[in-house]
Amino acid sequence: MKRKMIALILIIVFISLPLTGFAAEKVELSVQQIYEKRMDLYKKVETITNVPWYYLAAVDTYERGLRRAQRDRPIEEGVIAIFYSKEEWAGPSNPDVTDTNPLSIQFFGGVGLDGDGDGLAELTNDEDVLYTFAHYLEKFGFDETHFRIALWEKYKRDQSVNIVHSHSLIYKHFDRLDLHTHAFPMPLNYNYSYRNTWGDKRGWGGRRIHEGTDIFAGYNVPIRATAYGRVEIKGWNKYGGWRIGIRDLDNIYHYYAHLSGFEKGIEEGSIVSPGDVIGYCGSSGYGKPGTQGKFPPHLHYGMYRDNGYTEWSFDPYPSLKSWERQAYKDRKKKRG
Ligand SMILES: [Zn+2]
Repeated sequence: MKRKMIALILIIVFISLPLTGFAAEKVELSVQQIYEKRMDLYKKVETITNVPWYYLAAVDTYERGLRRAQRDRPIEEGVIAIFYSKEEWAGPSNPDVTDTNPLSIQFFGGVGLDGDGDGLAELTNDEDVLYTFAHYLEKFGFDETHFRIALWEKYKRDQSVNIVHSHSLIYKHFDRLDLHTHAFPMPLNYNYSYRNTWGDKRGWGGRRIHEGTDIFAGYNVPIRATAYGRVEIKGWNKYGGWRIGIRDLDNIYHYYAHLSGFEKGIEEGSIVSPGDVIGYCGSSGYGKPGTQGKFPPHLHYGMYRDNGYTEWSFDPYPSLKSWERQAYKDRKKKRG
């Protein structure tokens, strides 16, 4: 009898397990499904407003990064990350901060609009939020100059305008959204070595701490882009020597220093994919342009995150380790 009871309970548990999955309100989307849903929304709003989808994608992506970098911004619930405070949306003098009536929102000076035509302007509705932002851009105009003016009005910060503009050029170039994979900066078939040197004291240039990871390798080992991005800076810096800075779509700036030279065709403004060769390992730096050989050849690799106010460096070592692991896995798969 007791055994039968236990069996019955087990059966009930097993039957109800999948049901709890169905009962969940939120359906978990795969990464690919999220990109598709997001692109559908960009294209739909582009059709209604004539604002190019890659402007919308650029701002949305920048704001997604800000939500992950700023504590006072919650993580988005839908697939669109453009942020409005409740007060901005409903209107600063609106007694009801959760107002969804487009007429009263307009009356109280709120920005919230009804994008999907259901009669409500909802801060939690992706289409309403995206349409509201597209409508804001539309007022300025559709070319790059007006886009930059609209961004300046919104962020009041050159760096934010530059980053969003750069994002839009990357999206326009690739014409797709899944641009967040990475590569290890050196090919696996070369000899190289690195360890975690985050925060170590530096030998040159005063009391600075070491903001990055040094990957030691021979002269002229190819150095590759680690992410999809756009070259923001290329040239000489007295600390970094010949160096390159690339901004990716996660608002992260990747810094490659002490190069012996640059890859042909890589210029400021060039758009790169992970694995693209951008330059070659060297020992340049610590002096006037052309200085080299003051230390063994290595790649100094740094990562900096923009949070909408400033930029700060974080330890690239864990990212490097994970990209390297992935590269070994991919190589094993290829060899089958
Ligand atoms: Zn270094």
